[in-house]
Amino acid sequence: EHVANQIAAGEVIERPSSVVKELVENSLDAGSTKIDVTVEEGGLQLIRVSDNGSGIETEDCEVAFFRHATSKIGSGKDLFQIRTLGFRGEALPSIAAVAKVDCVSSPSTDGLGRRLVIEGGSVKSFTETASSRGTDMTVKELFYNTPARLKYMKTIQTELGHISDYIYRLAMAHPNVAFSLKHNGNALLQTLGNGDLVQVIAAVYGTAVAKTMLPVRAENADYSLSGFISRPDMTRSNRQALTMVMNGRTIRNYAVSNAILNAYHTLLPINRYPVVALHVGMDPALVDVNVHPAKLEVRFSKELELVRFVEEELRGVLRGEVL
Ligand code: ADP
Ligand code: MG
Repeated sequence: EHVANQIAAGEVIERPSSVVKELVENSLDAGSTKIDVTVEEGGLQLIRVSDNGSGIETEDCEVAFFRHATSKIGSGKDLFQIRTLGFRGEALPSIAAVAKVDCVSSPSTDGLGRRLVIEGGSVKSFTETASSRGTDMTVKELFYNTPARLKYMKTIQTELGHISDYIYRLAMAHPNVAFSLKHNGNALLQTLGNGDLVQVIAAVYGTAVAKTMLPVRAENADYSLSGFISRPDMTRSNRQALTMVMNGRTIRNYAVSNAILNAYHTLLPINRYPVVALHVGMDPALVDVNVHPAKLEVRFSKELELVRFVEEELRGVLRGEVL
């Protein structure tokens, strides 16, 4: 069974950022308004996610770490129709199969909680402990028992890059949640969780960029757009700074990214890219989920319409700025 878990784990947990993603999504599912992420050595040594969410009931602690015990839905088709991010009940079992996990959680405010320690899929201890309401997950020595997987890990900087890119995007998707990210003791991000997207942009890209961001707000029969785009003279040298959020979920979509860049066409020097944090709201039925649930890339059934809408609206905002 351990081997089966390790193999299955490989599909869900590719690298440290996959662990961060699964843990943070669970924190969001639990209604947390404060999520603190600490990593060491690109997450290979340690990943810790603490939240102030609903916590895990005593009788659910062990259950949560065993495969499919909590699976909420049957098919990937339903993925975008449901509100919560978790959908497979596979993440915790997968993480526990390939790392050393220490989970402290409490659903109550009486100061008491449970601590569950699991190594390589085996429960080591399950005890009562002091805990505030919420969940504090520590994942140590990722892939310690799967050396073949460990060998595929890139440099600490690369692994950290995947983690920070993910957390930055998530922070922009959830300006109402206070996120922090620390690596080897250095604070990389701190957002306030006060709903102010500009504050999040400032925390990620710096106040100079944030101060000059242009607001976008538009709606048609099928889509709503809101967020901020950078002035054409406040740009960056890589494309990473395009964040798209669809119905609260960070996504990638090639056609919409292109529409954003097209709106800036002729305004940007070659190899310069805008900073964009764009929230797209739409009827979930318009999302086509014929892609792997773990992948960010999604397709829309009225994609061309969305592309035109985004490009026109952004052009309008930029034109107002330039003239
Ligand atoms: P899924 O998210 O698909 O349900 P996971 O393996 O990620 O599966 O988590 C299993 C279960 O453990 C969740 O359904 C939830 O009940 C519980 N859980 C995990 N993390 C948290 C958390 N941070 N706060 C509250 N409950 C949690
Ligand atoms: Mg989950």
